[in-house]
Amino acid sequence: MSYLTPEQLQEIRQSIENQRQEILEKLNQRNEEGYEPEVRGDEADIANSEGIALTMERLQSRDIRLLKKLDEAARWTEDEDFGYCESCGEEIGFKRLLARPAARQCIDCKQNEEQRERGYYHPRPRKPPKPLHHDEDDSED
Ligand SMILES: [Zn+2]
Repeated sequence: MSYLTPEQLQEIRQSIENQRQEILEKLNQRNEEGYEPEVRGDEADIANSEGIALTMERLQSRDIRLLKKLDEAARWTEDEDFGYCESCGEEIGFKRLLARPAARQCIDCKQNEEQRERGYYHPRPRKPPKPLHHDEDDSED
């Protein structure tokens, strides 16, 4: 059973829906603008316009991915295990779900994953350096 109240669930569903609408609008807008790579002009212009087209494609595919995630999240809200981290099983928390309804992990697991991706991840925390001993040994005196 979810730790979220029906009202909270409803709010999250609304948040998912809002984000979906936002993305759909952006996608449609870009489609309407229908960027056509410039075929005239010199090579620099052509290279530049191809670069823009590529950026547009990346933005589109990123948004489409996010849209899919939101669709999954919308379905997930129907499940009993909704709102629990898929990595550690802890509660993701209402606030995080509301802000990032596509999140499937709690903030701790998400941060660990991001650190691992960037290569900063240390499975065990490093031990602090041992304090140097300044005890004077006076036995030779
Ligand atoms: Zn977790």
